[in-house]
Amino acid sequence: MSMYLQPSTREELISALGQLTDKSRIIAGGTDLMPDLRKKRPDVDIFLSLSAMEEMKEIRISDDTICIGAMATHDSIARNAEIKTWATALHHACSHVGSQQIRNRGTIGGSLANASPAGDMIPCVCLLGGTLLLLGADGAFRRIPAEDFTLGVSRTALHPGEVLFAIELPVRKDRSTAFVKLGSRKEVTIAQISIAISWDKGTRYQNPDGYLGAVDVTPVHLEEMPELIGQGPVDDAAKDRLAESLRDRIRGIRMNRKRPPKLKITEAERLYKERAVRSVVYDVFDLAETID
Ligand SMILES: Cc1cc2nc3c(=O)[nH]c(=O)nc-3n(C[C@H](O)[C@H](O)[C@H](O)COP(=O)(O)OP(=O)(O)OC[C@H]3O[C@@H](n4cnc5c(N)ncnc54)[C@H](O)[C@@H]3O)c2cc1C
Repeated sequence: MSMYLQPSTREELISALGQLTDKSRIIAGGTDLMPDLRKKRPDVDIFLSLSAMEEMKEIRISDDTICIGAMATHDSIARNAEIKTWATALHHACSHVGSQQIRNRGTIGGSLANASPAGDMIPCVCLLGGTLLLLGADGAFRRIPAEDFTLGVSRTALHPGEVLFAIELPVRKDRSTAFVKLGSRKEVTIAQISIAISWDKGTRYQNPDGYLGAVDVTPVHLEEMPELIGQGPVDDAAKDRLAESLRDRIRGIRMNRKRPPKLKITEAERLYKERAVRSVVYDVFDLAETID
């Protein structure tokens, strides 16, 4: 028989974290966890539900920081006007997660902690320079850059007995951002490939930066963007140069490994991703044209 803990204050949460073992599971919205439990039927001693942690559902915005509680749902993030303005890529990503039902239940913390390579949150949070706040059973917070959080498929930097408490994003009033994904369907689709880009606000497209999602176990930083697309308007030739380079990069991710890649995909999926990258490059710049 499993025990069910449902803390509603930070003190209760810390006490609950102290009781967790390696057989325990944290539940947020349950959209990833419940199908996984049904499939694997693990022996779980404690379920720690975060559903009563109101503090973890808050989205707080100050002059220089957006603090998103790990229990904020995709829907609440998508509907937040300030996130739409200052973290537009995250707004795009949350607006297109699954169906409305999934957006109502699924949380940003659950998405990041689940560490699926196809997750839409992690490329955006990396692009936006996010920092993750992890709370331990000793009541202390640990801060970790988003880039260092995902260690592999379903593996994160969370220590046993730690919870992802909140995500902090710097308010960058000087940057604009956009995100698109391409999946096998138009709606309720898991990304086969995604891209998040940023540039200096009002310049289209000075100091471009970007991350590619769903092509490796962690998002791929596109350091080559400034060199490939330049510092001004992006024409089709520039998009093709970027797409071509990303295609080689996707191929290289798999061919340059000393050990076999942990992202298990078929040859057909690899070929699909190599070709699909051109579409997401064109789509993200089409979307960017609608943003200042
Ligand atoms: C039909 C369907 C469509 C989907 N579409 C998309 C999509 O388009 N894009 C996308 O990115 N994802 C998609 N998903 C995946 C999923 O909905 C999201 O990743 C969601 O955000 C997971 O959040 P959750 O709150 O439901 O997490 P849960 O299922 O509750 O938890 C997921 C994992 O994270 C752990 N966990 C949760 N919260 C915390 C925390 N705060 N601290 C530490 N560990 C924690 C849990 O123990 C579990 O291992 C889809 C899922 C379904 C079923």
